[in-house]
Amino acid sequence: MKTVIALVDCDSFFVACEQVLKPELIGLPVCVLSNNDGCVISRSREAKQAGVKMGMPYFMAKKEFPEVIYLSGHKDIYGEISAKVMDKLRTYSPYVEVYSIDEAFIDLTGTTRLYNKNYEEIIRMIRNEVKAETGITVSIGLASSKTLAKLGSDKAKHTGGIFIVKDEEIETLLKDTAIEEIWGIGRKLKKTLIQRGILNAYDFVLKPDAILQSMLGVVGLNLKHELLGECTSMVNPQEELPKSIQHTSALKEFSRDKNVLKTAINTHIHSACSKLRRYGLLAANIGVMLRTKDFQVTSLNRKLTDSTNFELEIQKTVFELFEKLYKPGIIYRSTGVYLGDFEAESSKQLTLLNENGERNTNLARCIDKIETKFGKNAIRTGF
Ligand SMILES: [Mg+2]
Repeated sequence: MKTVIALVDCDSFFVACEQVLKPELIGLPVCVLSNNDGCVISRSREAKQAGVKMGMPYFMAKKEFPEVIYLSGHKDIYGEISAKVMDKLRTYSPYVEVYSIDEAFIDLTGTTRLYNKNYEEIIRMIRNEVKAETGITVSIGLASSKTLAKLGSDKAKHTGGIFIVKDEEIETLLKDTAIEEIWGIGRKLKKTLIQRGILNAYDFVLKPDAILQSMLGVVGLNLKHELLGECTSMVNPQEELPKSIQHTSALKEFSRDKNVLKTAINTHIHSACSKLRRYGLLAANIGVMLRTKDFQVTSLNRKLTDSTNFELEIQKTVFELFEKLYKPGIIYRSTGVYLGDFEAESSKQLTLLNENGERNTNLARCIDKIETKFGKNAIRTGF
């Protein structure tokens, strides 16, 4: 079976995140600025139309386009929304490779039977559902290789959000693609290629293998095959073992209600602990985070003498910290839980576990088994 790969790319991602937080910004010319408000790193469609260029220094943009709204970035919030988008993508296929904060490849090969839909209907569905659940608009390119899927997603920005690279249209697409538009061709390489008379992607694939190999090595050969629609690099979902796990999310509505906050935190504890167990890790550092309505972050953490992945124990620590952190008069917008200082479960010998420890490990495994069978969140520990 031929591989079918989609590249999902979030549109104007940082600006889109700001619009999720503040819907009143939708439809306005908005730019997000880099650290210390240096330059423009994300633009809404309206800001692009106004003429603001990517990377433009803030002082220049402000002078030239005073009608545009300029915002300082909230990197932590973009990370949270990105994680939400990626988690949603993993519900369509286990083969999701996160390429950057706002882009991921998904291997959709064979999913037509699963969904009883053709590929076009599947990526339309993904696009609609991601938008409905996260508020983020994505562009999706679909092709038989990553490189073509990436080209497709660029085209999709001008074709209503999806673009399928059909075999019989590859030649036309390559002729339309300037050499620097190809994924992986940087400024330096562009110069070399143009000197050799390679101006577009079609010129590139016409070059004999031997020449590409001598110019660019095996990378060049692979690129040629990828451009011709042959997959040389599979979607690689392998996640490395995490160094820490953080689960945070915005509350549905701002709140100062202790129970509302604790319920949200409990959800984070649960998903963080399942992840911890899935990786076979134990945590010795446990933390809780509250973000106020005005984006002030307060957090507390505690180091345990004995690492654990047992939910009730982690919950106990988190709620003790929460009681210290929580201030009754303050309105909060989001909550989070942090687990860190990991060690592998396997490295901790069973003999070292006390009787309780062993029972806790078994209980935790039971929870995971029940969830595998009955779905996520089938059981919840109370608080
Ligand atoms: Mg993007």
